[in-house]
Amino acid sequence: MGAGSAGWLTALALNTHCGFLKIRLIRPSRGSPIGVGESTQSDLILLLQAARIDLPSFYEACHATMKCGIFYTDWNEIGKHYWHPFSDLDLGTFASPASFYSVAHHYQQMILRAGKYRHTQYYKSVHTSYETCVRKKQVAPESAVAFHVDAHEITKYLERHLVAVEVLDANDLDVKVKDGRVDCIVLDGSRTVKSDLYVDCSGFARAIHRRVAEPDIVDYEANVNRAVAAQVPYVDIEKEITPYTGAHAHKHGWTWSIPLQSRIGSGYVYHGDFCSADEAETDFRQHWGIERMKDVEVAHIRFDSPTLRNPWVENVVAIGLSAGFVEPLEATGLNWTITSGQTLYEAIAARYYDRDTSAKYNFNMLGYVYDVQDFIDAHYKLSARRDSEFWKYQTSRAYPERLEHRLALYAKEMPCDANRLKTTPWAFHELSWIDILNGYNFRYAQLDVGPMQMQAAEEQLREIASKPRRGIGPLECVLPPTTSGKRGAQILM
Ligand SMILES: Cc1cc2nc3c(=O)[nH]c(=O)nc-3n(C[C@H](O)[C@H](O)[C@H](O)COP(=O)(O)OP(=O)(O)OC[C@H]3O[C@@H](n4cnc5c(N)ncnc54)[C@H](O)[C@@H]3O)c2cc1C
Repeated sequence: MGAGSAGWLTALALNTHCGFLKIRLIRPSRGSPIGVGESTQSDLILLLQAARIDLPSFYEACHATMKCGIFYTDWNEIGKHYWHPFSDLDLGTFASPASFYSVAHHYQQMILRAGKYRHTQYYKSVHTSYETCVRKKQVAPESAVAFHVDAHEITKYLERHLVAVEVLDANDLDVKVKDGRVDCIVLDGSRTVKSDLYVDCSGFARAIHRRVAEPDIVDYEANVNRAVAAQVPYVDIEKEITPYTGAHAHKHGWTWSIPLQSRIGSGYVYHGDFCSADEAETDFRQHWGIERMKDVEVAHIRFDSPTLRNPWVENVVAIGLSAGFVEPLEATGLNWTITSGQTLYEAIAARYYDRDTSAKYNFNMLGYVYDVQDFIDAHYKLSARRDSEFWKYQTSRAYPERLEHRLALYAKEMPCDANRLKTTPWAFHELSWIDILNGYNFRYAQLDVGPMQMQAAEEQLREIASKPRRGIGPLECVLPPTTSGKRGAQILM
């Protein structure tokens, strides 16, 4: 149930991987899709490829642009920036057979040991995409990529593509429950829909799941819980279009910028305890310029709905905003949905499920949620900003012990294959952790690394420095060749 991105992407994943299913999608007239969620990760491309969707036609229909990473401004200190790329594909090659020491690890070790290495030079030295994407605003062919997409167009496109999915429009819905399970859903008082499994994609309403279970909530203190969002017109598209998502920190939160072919998707994210809706809207309009924003309507969004520990209960699975959400930073919303869809189709591929299946699903998804929360929290906890009550609070408050433990471990050993705290699923790659931690001048202990490994890494640094920085126009659709090709196989984030 639900016709937002989560409803359609879950239908796509199930239809692609569980061909035996008969899928019906209930599109309620009540409420409407949230209309944000436009910066994606590489897994969307992989799902589209697996579904044999023609990527150029999807790209055109969804007014898409290419995304090679996220560019952070003013997060650690005002006036400073850092780059979180989808990893350059060559970087997955570790510098030695001992797979814990890559060139990214080496650069950080050399910051400690040799004067010529600096945090601010890290991105330029280690990621060839820095110069191409950030300096020249072009797509780096060697970088893994994702799309920026128009949130309304993606659902329309998927509806046109998924002809095997029956769409049931309904003004009125009555979820009938028997013995703690959904028995059926009655549409408009007359049509009865009965199913083996009900997927609740009704957004924050959580319309089915709430009927069968008390929400079992993940204990989490959000850094931000409100947004002012708008579709911002370009003033000078040539200058403003970027092959990355922008994340610009402010006194009370931060602004996202998602350049599409026709406009910029943007929003100001803040915490209601530190900033009123009016103040946020004023700050947001000022960020883009009063003149540009004079005819632009903004939407005020609250996202303080809790995340579930038990998204799968009996014959109901909550996916999308109904299951939970952390915040827009790092574009985890659609990735969370796609990860849920994947975990679900793997769970039911055998055409059977029971309580063990749902327990395992919930356990795996909780691992994913913890990874996302830790990664997001690190951006706030480690910031050097103290210029407002918001930043003073976020940088001094208590964070989960899990994150403290993880950061202590990373300080000692650096993020690497060998010290993965959990196995599956893993939301962010270790190289992403290194990129982010570097943005906050994180200090590591000296690792015990042999001269051979050092030498191999130095050679790789020289090779990176000598590589041509070829760029491709920001609007050109640069596609991974095949799912089994180099790009598709090595997408890291
Ligand atoms: C401020 C903000 C910014 C975000 N930015 C990003 C981003 O950049 N990248 C990213 O990946 N994700 C982002 N997300 C998350 C992303 O928007 C969602 O993951 C995605 O849109 C999926 O939403 P959904 O389909 O679960 O819910 P919705 O889009 O809200 O759809 C819910 C569906 O349920 C229906 N419905 C509503 N009420 C009821 C009811 N009472 N009964 C039955 N049905 C009902 C609606 O009609 C609709 O069809 C963002 C989220 C927020 C809040």
